[in-house]
Amino acid sequence: MHINDAVFLEDLCPKFRIRQWRKSIHRFTGKSCIYCGKPSESIDHVLPRSQGGLSTTENCVPACLSCNGDKSDENAFYWYRKQKFYDPRRAMAIRAWLEGDLRLAIRLLQWANPSFKIKDKNCETDESKYKVA
Ligand SMILES: [Zn+2]
Repeated sequence: MHINDAVFLEDLCPKFRIRQWRKSIHRFTGKSCIYCGKPSESIDHVLPRSQGGLSTTENCVPACLSCNGDKSDENAFYWYRKQKFYDPRRAMAIRAWLEGDLRLAIRLLQWANPSFKIKDKNCETDESKYKVA
């Protein structure tokens, strides 16, 4: 398990800011795991920190504990392709996310899961301008 990934920044920044940042990441996907769509309970480093992955929004995606723990330090795309719940639209969304195009990522996630909705419009980041169609 890599539950520690969920608390990765606490030694660097004040806890409050991290909590806000973490919340905003979960908010992007409506608190659902970017890999499987289940409730996201943790934040996964797409490129593991052990391989130099940074704790930035582009490298951190909402993930359920099951995916986060199962993926571990494997390459995210390689790991994801082997999963039963693999969805190419989600894979594209992850790729867009890594490129910093959260709007595209969210659109792809919506495509993968039509019932997907973002409830909170008061997001503090620049991405708050994104409107749910
Ligand atoms: Zn998951």
